[in-house]
Amino acid sequence: MSLGSLLPPLGETIRCPCCDRSIPALVLTNAYLCPRHGLFEVGSKKNGSKKNEVIHLDSGRRWQSWQGHWYRQHQQIESLRAELFTVLDHLHHQGFHATGITLAQRYRELVTPYLESGSDWFYQIYCGKLRLYGLPVTFQPETQADSRWQVISFELTQVPGSPKTYSYLTCTRISESWRK
Ligand SMILES: [Zn+2]
Repeated sequence: MSLGSLLPPLGETIRCPCCDRSIPALVLTNAYLCPRHGLFEVGSKKNGSKKNEVIHLDSGRRWQSWQGHWYRQHQQIESLRAELFTVLDHLHHQGFHATGITLAQRYRELVTPYLESGSDWFYQIYCGKLRLYGLPVTFQPETQADSRWQVISFELTQVPGSPKTYSYLTCTRISESWRK
């Protein structure tokens, strides 16, 4: 029996999706162990996921790989919103701001109830329709089988500088208070 057949399908090591460190496979298991983040199991038919997916056993969080990078696969709106917020915040610190969000089609059902739909006159005038964090949202269909949109969650259209209007921040705050 070769060593390869004793290892999980992604080989001897993978990058930890949380800290990006190289972490070892556990021989005779389907898992990799990060000393800081714990066990990551490779997706299989048995655990109901894809072969290019890893599942963090403690939290149930999932990632899929695309060209050597892990991309988080969201099951809840909260985690998707949190990831978006982190990226928007990071952009702001880099001296950029976003002018739009493109989301993968697979999130349409998850996200639609949370889009700022413009049922209120104030919203219609100041925020328009189908927005998240005050930004217009479009969905990207997965037209090709090898499309990165099967793996990545979103992309932001970004431009240098601070937002000209602060609707982005205002709408973010409104949308938070809206649901209380
Ligand atoms: Zn880690």
